[in-house]
Amino acid sequence: MAGVIDTLGKAGRHRMLVVAECRRCGRRAQFYAEELAVFYGRGRDPATLRFRCKPCESTNCRITVAEQSFERSHETIVWRPVRVTKTSS
Ligand SMILES: [Zn+2]
Repeated sequence: MAGVIDTLGKAGRHRMLVVAECRRCGRRAQFYAEELAVFYGRGRDPATLRFRCKPCESTNCRITVAEQSFERSHETIVWRPVRVTKTSS
């Protein structure tokens, strides 16, 4: 692991997930850092991203960056900032 992951570009290179956790209800959403990097720019600090929790309409989220291998469970929900059609799998 490299040092501090302070940009989406770095997180994407390490195939990491950006996890947004609502401080109000604890709901978690995960995003592929690579996809966020395309959407927001590779130099963007993940901690400055804003996510809205749909059930409580709160943007008070705690942002963390996690390695995908730790997040592999059936409860993992990965949300996407944009819908993309992928032909390769
Ligand atoms: Zn919430």
